[in-house]
Amino acid sequence: MKIIRRPEVMVAWSENLRRQGVTIGFVPTMGALHEGHRSLIRAGRRRSDALVVSVFVNPTQFGPTEDFARYPRVLDRDHALCRTEGVDVCFEPTVEAMYPKGYQTVVMVSEITRRWEGERRPHHFQGVATVVTKLFRIVQPHFAVFGQKDYQQVLLVRRLVQDLNLGVKIIICPTVREPDGLAMSSRNIYLSEQERTIAPLLYKSLKAGSEAIRKGVIEAALVQSTMAAVLKQEPRFTIEYLAVCDPLTLEPLTLVTSKAILLGAVRLGSVRLIDNLIVSPARNQRAKRLSSA
Ligand code: AMP
Repeated sequence: MKIIRRPEVMVAWSENLRRQGVTIGFVPTMGALHEGHRSLIRAGRRRSDALVVSVFVNPTQFGPTEDFARYPRVLDRDHALCRTEGVDVCFEPTVEAMYPKGYQTVVMVSEITRRWEGERRPHHFQGVATVVTKLFRIVQPHFAVFGQKDYQQVLLVRRLVQDLNLGVKIIICPTVREPDGLAMSSRNIYLSEQERTIAPLLYKSLKAGSEAIRKGVIEAALVQSTMAAVLKQEPRFTIEYLAVCDPLTLEPLTLVTSKAILLGAVRLGSVRLIDNLIVSPARNQRAKRLSSA
């Protein structure tokens, strides 16, 4: 496996392979790789001739009070995982190489970033959109793989690619979970032992919402209170949002009569957890909708 640190070296490597007709796959990450990342890497490996994984803790997507400085950095372990999975290049630029002195350009995707994560984390999505655009220009992949775990980010990236004609196919992989349902995340290591035992309640609350919808509940407010009731069993959670939304626009729904996305964000101690579930309503609700159409 090649380790490339300089953007211009990465560009030259990709340009050379593209000239030879090689299909380049790309998995952007912030490192501290876990099984969720591994599943993305495997999906990328299956579809590509050459696979690039980037490890870059992007400062511009962290708020001033967030965890940029303490974000886990374990490059040796990340390299080992990448080697095991047959990655061709690990691209790990420095902050200075990505944002040299005088840097002043940002990319902003408007509507889709307004709510939820965008509302709680000002500038976060501007940082994401900017770094993804830069990474796509540098790595020049034919396709890139992202996780459903960060659902709003996935919608942003799709929008960005379409709006800026970036010509990168976007592949989405399902969320990989711990056996107890907690979505894997590089930040889970910050959870204390006690917090770790209750952390799966976020997923349980989304499951409860999805069960309610499957059983025929269509009022989004009722679904939301079902989800909230699960989390309220544990006073250590602070709910940031629990939402029932249109899966394409992320606008909140009043009635769930077709596919929806359940979004959740909570704080648990010093850790912020997010998760989501895609859900389809009970068959009879769909039938009712069709017969009234
Ligand atoms: P990160 O390193 O957290 O920026 O994530 C890099 C990529 O891995 C993003 O596309 C995430 O959505 C994805 N990812 C993170 N956690 C998971 C997970 N538990 N399952 C699947 N994909 C994930």
